[in-house]
Amino acid sequence: VKNIGVLTSGGDAPGMNAAIRSVVRSCTYYNLQCFGIHKGYEGLIEGDIRELNARSVRNIINKGGTFLKSARSQEFRTPEGRKKAYDNLVKYGIDGLVVIGGDGSFTGALKLSEEYGFPVVGIPGTIDNDINGTDYTIGYDTALNTVVDAIDKIRDTASSHNRLFLIEVMGRDAGDIALNAGIGAGAEEILIPEEDMGVDRLIESLKRSKKSGKTSSIIVVAEGDKSGKNIFELGEYVEEHLKGYEVRVSVLGHIQRGGAPSCYDRVLASKLGVGAVEALLAGKTEVMIGVVHKNITEVPLRTALEKKKYKHDKLIKVADITSI
Ligand code: ATP
Repeated sequence: VKNIGVLTSGGDAPGMNAAIRSVVRSCTYYNLQCFGIHKGYEGLIEGDIRELNARSVRNIINKGGTFLKSARSQEFRTPEGRKKAYDNLVKYGIDGLVVIGGDGSFTGALKLSEEYGFPVVGIPGTIDNDINGTDYTIGYDTALNTVVDAIDKIRDTASSHNRLFLIEVMGRDAGDIALNAGIGAGAEEILIPEEDMGVDRLIESLKRSKKSGKTSSIIVVAEGDKSGKNIFELGEYVEEHLKGYEVRVSVLGHIQRGGAPSCYDRVLASKLGVGAVEALLAGKTEVMIGVVHKNITEVPLRTALEKKKYKHDKLIKVADITSI
């Protein structure tokens, strides 16, 4: 491998810049040329590609988002789109690709490898922590801290007014953000996609909390919770069935994606960037660089694409006990 391309794809996540920086500087360290591909697969198809050197990535380790920009490309889902992408890789002499993104981005990378034998390595960059084969994804820790900070602020107003707040956080399939931020911010109840609590049990539990002397409540709800209601319907339902509380709904939304990456995410991104370049140098392909028990690991991209098996039971118990 002589020329490595790097792109960010799918939803952006804090720490992606630190990962790009690490890939670029690892290339310099190993005497490789690095090419930055703008706007993910869209830029690869358009040929929006620039040489990067160690100085091109200064002053970005502390910045959220991705300076290479990200995109969702419909064209890359088609064989014709991928042909254009491949032709551009050849045109620039790129002979290895680092894809920083989530499962969709990895699926695209795998297609490029399967169809053209092109060497690809993935780095998990998504705030949801929903990638199999790695304990953490880049951006997750920062998002957790952002959510806890936001809930702390909402708690001030909740406790001043005897209000009950339902706070929606990101996580369509994964309850990691809801569960961990919920425990960290002292939520009374946490609704996650992996567990169907049932709205009636929720009401009963809130009634018990009220009886035990609580005057305000925070309920953290993951986007993909199993209540079968959207958060506003759920808020109305709770207000109807639980007298004595004013219910308010707050959807945290995109603030969860932004902000300066935490130190943890910067270090993780730096480690994974080095790991990705070293994997390509060692002739590896179709692997994701992840972290398991603090060790940098390589897992097949196909394993990374399998549904993550969640083991939330211990955390759920902690949440139940500490919210008593
Ligand atoms: P996030 O988890 O933040 O949503 P993601 O990487 O899963 O990130 P997607 O939008 O699912 O985000 O995928 C990013 C891009 O990867 C898509 O816009 C598309 O270009 C490419 N991609 C996704 N799925 C496929 C597929 N089946 N075949 C080819 N390319 C794909």
